[in-house]
Amino acid sequence: MVLICMVKSCINSKTTTREKKCSLFRVPKDLDRSKEWLMNCGREDLIFKSIVNLNKSYRVCMNHFKNNMFSNPEKTRLLISAVPTQFGNFNCCFIYSL
Ligand SMILES: [Zn+2]
Repeated sequence: MVLICMVKSCINSKTTTREKKCSLFRVPKDLDRSKEWLMNCGREDLIFKSIVNLNKSYRVCMNHFKNNMFSNPEKTRLLISAVPTQFGNFNCCFIYSL
């Protein structure tokens, strides 16, 4: 299974991020928070999918989270309250493609 970012405008929505050291995060199992993620990501089309399906199949990459939303310096873990808010400023993965 190829894991990609669900943000349509994101470069990681088209290619696998495995070689780019870019973390992908599962949609949270909490219903309210998962909706917030979908709305922020512009994926209202997914809002009627089950939470289990969303959590299993959909990811958001680290590019869309502010630095203060990670719980460790390696940026591999998110705070419980983290929501994706960054959509115009891709600074981790573009370094590799420039
Ligand atoms: Zn992304």
